[in-house]
Amino acid sequence: MNEADQPESTPVDHRLYVPHNEGWDAQVKTNSTKEYCYYRNPGEEHFHLLVMGELYLHRGNEKVCLNCAVRQDLLTTDRLHWQRWK
Ligand SMILES: [Zn+2]
Repeated sequence: MNEADQPESTPVDHRLYVPHNEGWDAQVKTNSTKEYCYYRNPGEEHFHLLVMGELYLHRGNEKVCLNCAVRQDLLTTDRLHWQRWK
């Protein structure tokens, strides 16, 4: 379903899925140690600072903010991803 087809009263779906989830964990940053996202936005020179309380994905030494995780197709809002990604 295309999001644009949904009536405006439809609640925003905040559920996210990790289609290729082997090795990935979701973490909450619980300290103020400076840590940065593994990726940068295209055209940007800086890495994203992860802030206290932020949710991010974690695998090995990769920490990925949710914006980058969506952009890198690590995360999807597509609940039916498992039917498409065989
Ligand atoms: Zn990022």
